[in-house]
Amino acid sequence: MKVSVPNPMNVLDYPVTHLANVGETRAKQLREGMGITTYGDLIQYYPSKHIDRSRFYYTYELTTDMPYVQLRGQILSFEEEGVGRKRRIVGHFSDGHGIIDLVWFNGLQYVERTYKLMTDYVVFGKPTMFRDRFNITHPEIESAERFSRSGLGVRPYYSVPEKLQKRGINTRMMEQWVSTVFRVIHEPLPETLPEYLLRELRLMSRDEAIRAMHYPQSADHLSQASYRLKFEELFFIQLNILRYARERNRRYAGYVFTRVGELFNDFYYHHLPFPLTGAQKRVIREIYNDTRTGRQMNRLLQGDVGSGKTLVALMSMLIALGCGFQACIMAPTEILAEQHLDTFRRFLGDMPVRVELLTSSIKGKRRESILSGLQTGEVQILVGTHAVIEDNVQFRQLGFVVIDEQHRFGVAQRAKLWNKGQGAGAHSFYKAPHVLVMTATPIPRTLAMTVYGDLDVSVIDELPPGRKPIQTIHHYENRREELYRGLRQQISLGRQAYIVYPLIKESEKMDLQNLEEGYQEFQKAFPDLRISMVHGKMKPVDKDREMERFVSGETQILMATTVIEVGVNVPNASVMAIMNAERFGLAQLHQLRGRVGRGADQSYCILVTGFKLSGDTRRRIQIMCETNDGFEIAEEDMRLRGPGDLEGTQQSGIPFDLHIANLARDGQVVQLARDVAKRVLDSDPDGQRPEHAAMWRALSDLNKRTIDWSAIS
Ligand code: ADP
Ligand code: MG
Repeated sequence: MKVSVPNPMNVLDYPVTHLANVGETRAKQLREGMGITTYGDLIQYYPSKHIDRSRFYYTYELTTDMPYVQLRGQILSFEEEGVGRKRRIVGHFSDGHGIIDLVWFNGLQYVERTYKLMTDYVVFGKPTMFRDRFNITHPEIESAERFSRSGLGVRPYYSVPEKLQKRGINTRMMEQWVSTVFRVIHEPLPETLPEYLLRELRLMSRDEAIRAMHYPQSADHLSQASYRLKFEELFFIQLNILRYARERNRRYAGYVFTRVGELFNDFYYHHLPFPLTGAQKRVIREIYNDTRTGRQMNRLLQGDVGSGKTLVALMSMLIALGCGFQACIMAPTEILAEQHLDTFRRFLGDMPVRVELLTSSIKGKRRESILSGLQTGEVQILVGTHAVIEDNVQFRQLGFVVIDEQHRFGVAQRAKLWNKGQGAGAHSFYKAPHVLVMTATPIPRTLAMTVYGDLDVSVIDELPPGRKPIQTIHHYENRREELYRGLRQQISLGRQAYIVYPLIKESEKMDLQNLEEGYQEFQKAFPDLRISMVHGKMKPVDKDREMERFVSGETQILMATTVIEVGVNVPNASVMAIMNAERFGLAQLHQLRGRVGRGADQSYCILVTGFKLSGDTRRRIQIMCETNDGFEIAEEDMRLRGPGDLEGTQQSGIPFDLHIANLARDGQVVQLARDVAKRVLDSDPDGQRPEHAAMWRALSDLNKRTIDWSAIS
């Protein structure tokens, strides 16, 4: 039997300062700029591409559209040019056929000290044209002798953040460090996946994969290596999420809703003003089925804007009430909370249900009365903002919680809600209210499996009948008259209109100015109409008043920055013009557009842009004009922008950085990883199987480094 000798220190844990030319300063730069602290980190910083370094170019072959070129030659002379921040050192470089300039803006002394005249060098970089001559700024240079030692052929290219490039860290240094590390590692890199999975899924070993990422033998070798590492990355994420969900189910039981109850039936048969859509019925059934089992429900309800999620929420809450529980719904803003309150009261009519609103602006006696009503159970439905999860809000028996339109609502905050179930009258300490998270921002499946992977998902994929698809039209900004005509025509039919301006933090001042100028323009163009204006810099009371004027129909036009983005419901509004539409992302455009098309009338969305549009922008506008399908738009958005950059989701934080996998491109791997993770957990619920030991250890190491569940919000 092999005796394991305690390993004093694994080479992979060596700090980078063990490397010859890395001191404290470099180490700090690497840590802060690239997340590299140890040898292990270094070799897991994979090249962004590989470059064929066997090809040399001649100066007469250069063109400005070449991404990289490699030349061989000598520096003839150095010259200092420019002053102040433009000060630079220029090396005139000849390959025997012509001359190009090598240019450095930083580290001037270092350059002059290091590079010698009339010595053979290999120079690598992007050629650009300046004053009729080609130059390469901050080239990589290697002595020809050294270059021939490191070998021709395909070499890894490491992307170094620009900030660090300025500090003199470049791909060549990375290359040296990485190769040094591989030279001192004398054992295979530890495997993290169980042997049987490697065999079954035909995955490369981790050792081979990591090496091949840097030094692949072929394109195919590289893609197999990256597949293996992507799988591993996504697999560990899924293991985490699923294990977490199982643990939760083990710890918390759900309240059992034994019947739909009389309130629900009374509502369904006597108060519902229209028939439910098939999708609404299906989702209510899914929810009810969950809440009957004794398991605590954690469900994500996705449904496009206007698909009728609010009603699903209300009817699910009525089931809870019918079984003797209280329910609450949380909205992201006060306006939305108030709107939910109105909607609920209107729907419920004279039914004996007490609904109250709680936000941070409700204070004093009123607040006290609501708080005590919650404790006695007289308040059955609480509508509110974040204020409802404050510690001093105590329910008698909270059984059902709805979280509306909130991507930011992370695992930890949801966890806080579960504990609200244990009010004074709770029967058991281990029971938690059911949670329904609703969102209109369509989330591509792969992302949902990752960000919301611990939730079950329901989808409303059907709009209430009679809705006409919104017609979306693109206008260049010079067609203002036409826009006015269209607006006037709709308003003369009794409709209302939104005019939306972008609001971006960095240019907030200018954006507000745009809105205010626009306001004056529109007032001039429509002297006979009443116009509301709303933006984030207004006092909440003023904002609410202006909104209210529009909601009640007193004003015909609402001009606003993006504050109206989520949830506002004015079915009479049939036009939305989005100004500077090029500055909005797809998801946001879709959300905004969802404010119209809520009544039975034909609605319009006009995207107004300038003339100069980038390819991506053109594509965004085109998609908006072509489809109203939120899922299609979300998929396209993810393709265009990459998943890390999706609106609404970046704050929610995928609780880990994806190193190598890409949710937009690797959808199938996500699914596979999830399926395999489920199977592994089923086969080893207590984490006892010896063949999984290395896997669990790797997961726990990973979690120590990256995941802090309690910090997710
Ligand atoms: P969202 O899913 O965006 O939250 P809402 O719940 O605000 O959508 O619903 C949009 C509008 O559709 C509301 O005016 C609502 O009363 C109405 N609505 C909901 N369900 C139906 C239905 N089954 N038939 C007709 N109208 C409906
Ligand atoms: Mg809604």
